[in-house]
Amino acid sequence: MRFLLGFAACAVVPWIPGLPPFWVTLAGYVGIAAIVALGLVVLTGVGGMTSFGQAAFMGFGAYTTALLTTRFGVSPWLTLPAALLAAGLAAALLGAVVLRLSGHYLPLGTLAMNVALVYVVANLDGFGRNDGINGIPPLSVFGVALTDNRPYLTVIGAALVLALLLTRNLLDSRSGRAIRALRGGRIAAAAFGVRIAEARMVAFVYAALLAGLAGWLYAHMQRSVTPAPFGLGPSIDYLLMAVIGGVAYPGGAVLGAAVVELIHDRLQDLLPLLIGAQGNFETIVFGAMLLLVLQLAPEGIWPHLVRRRAFPPPHPSPSWGGAGRGGPPPLPPRAMPERGAPLLEVSGLTRRFGGLLAVNDIGFAVAAGEIVGLIGPNGAGKSTTFNLLTGVDRPNAGAVRFQGAQFAGLPPQAVARRGVGRTFQHVKLVPAMSVIENVALGCHLRGHAGPLRALLRRDRAEESTLFAEAARQLARVGLADEADRPAGTLALGRQRIVEIARALALDPVLLLLDEPAAGLRHAEKQALAALLRRLRDEGMTILLVEHDMGFVMGLADRLVVMNFGTKLAEGPAAEVRRDKAVIAAYLGAAPA
Ligand code: ADP
Ligand code: MG
Repeated sequence: MRFLLGFAACAVVPWIPGLPPFWVTLAGYVGIAAIVALGLVVLTGVGGMTSFGQAAFMGFGAYTTALLTTRFGVSPWLTLPAALLAAGLAAALLGAVVLRLSGHYLPLGTLAMNVALVYVVANLDGFGRNDGINGIPPLSVFGVALTDNRPYLTVIGAALVLALLLTRNLLDSRSGRAIRALRGGRIAAAAFGVRIAEARMVAFVYAALLAGLAGWLYAHMQRSVTPAPFGLGPSIDYLLMAVIGGVAYPGGAVLGAAVVELIHDRLQDLLPLLIGAQGNFETIVFGAMLLLVLQLAPEGIWPHLVRRRAFPPPHPSPSWGGAGRGGPPPLPPRAMPERGAPLLEVSGLTRRFGGLLAVNDIGFAVAAGEIVGLIGPNGAGKSTTFNLLTGVDRPNAGAVRFQGAQFAGLPPQAVARRGVGRTFQHVKLVPAMSVIENVALGCHLRGHAGPLRALLRRDRAEESTLFAEAARQLARVGLADEADRPAGTLALGRQRIVEIARALALDPVLLLLDEPAAGLRHAEKQALAALLRRLRDEGMTILLVEHDMGFVMGLADRLVVMNFGTKLAEGPAAEVRRDKAVIAAYLGAAPA
């Protein structure tokens, strides 16, 4: 509906009587810039990556259509796919090199590409050097050439609304949740099967495609291209727009583009008068503006104008609440191993951090259908053991067999695929995402839709299946009422329970829980214990790290006790409780 209104506005606004042509042209530039900035919202605001090369991706789009139309006489509409392909391919190639590396490689790589592109087009005759390429034909619609900026503004506006629509579609999808988990939730996302490099690539290429579209629009508006608008300076301007508008908000891209273009335009007239000399003095003002915004409104202006979350709740409750009552069919469950069969066998597991032996030659076994408690004082190596079992960290030595297959050294995605779900001692939810979306991230491997299906909204059936499953798991842990709240607003204890629901959404064979009862009230602990017993009765196997001895003693079938990285004892709770070494370790490390 909002998008329909948007399209309608694009058709009407340019024709408002008395609208000065100057404003029409400026609005056109704002629209084009907003499309580029929207790409940065996905890339930077949502995905947490920085690009100093968006103007270059625009350049790929603009020069592609400029060359094809002027040298080869290709019709402008036919060059659109080529322009998108050029920008997308450039991003894919650059991304393949720099996205696997962390840190500053992406900003530096995009920066280098931008400098290189401008250098190439400004120095090769084929690209017209600094004079650029002139005589680009206008777009035509139904045989009418759009030489006037009014109808062209309609085209730009429609492209912007379409870009907003596609961005909504992408972010509200299985691929989108993977992208939204990149900033901060990377380890957890990987533990549920998200391929991080792929999610980064999707965001990067998507942003480049939007920039390519913007470049194509720009070329046919200007009817000529020169290197300057695709340089490093404009690239930084687009980042500025996104940050000032609100880098995590699609609406912020539009707002930021409008604010920056408008001020840019005014300052170019005003500053030379004030200062008495020609020059790009507006840069100084923008620098000051950026500092101000980062100080006063680090999230940008948009969230202060529009009181609303970064993304609307994607699935209004009724659509996923109807599981079983004509709702989507439930996901097929995984085959559970027979109770008592050997499930997890750990031997000689060792992990050194420099001189510290965090895990020292640990060995134990877990049979299907039992609850095993892994206990020990702080720093004993329990969480490290979990990380070694789930591929988050690699052991220096040792073997892990899961359902008979070698496990150690597998990446977290492969561990998840084999049916190991986990929670984290330090809660790793995506705070801005709703509770149910976080849980749906746990179903990542049970869906298949990729970004293309998401963009075209062909993923709705699968999405409602995934959300129905997520809703089922939330109900199972007793948090159905919290489904639509941003996960970061829950009390920490409840966030741990959301993590359990997310792990259950994987349909795990083995559940690894790292201090699930920490921060829970007594009644909540009892409810959790009841839930874990119920899960065991249903055939689930649970390995549990817990500090609350009352909780773990009453729950676990067997205990494994660690201290300073080594195994102190193993056996039924009643026996371990009387073990002298265990008592000494506990009294020594944590006097009660
Ligand atoms: P537990 O979960 O039993 O409290 P951990 O497994 O978190 O203990 O930590 C075991 C030991 O390993 C601690 O001394 C901790 O400081 C150390 N350790 C854990 N992770 C790292 C790391 N990434 N780098 C260096 N030391 C670490
Ligand atoms: Mg720990």
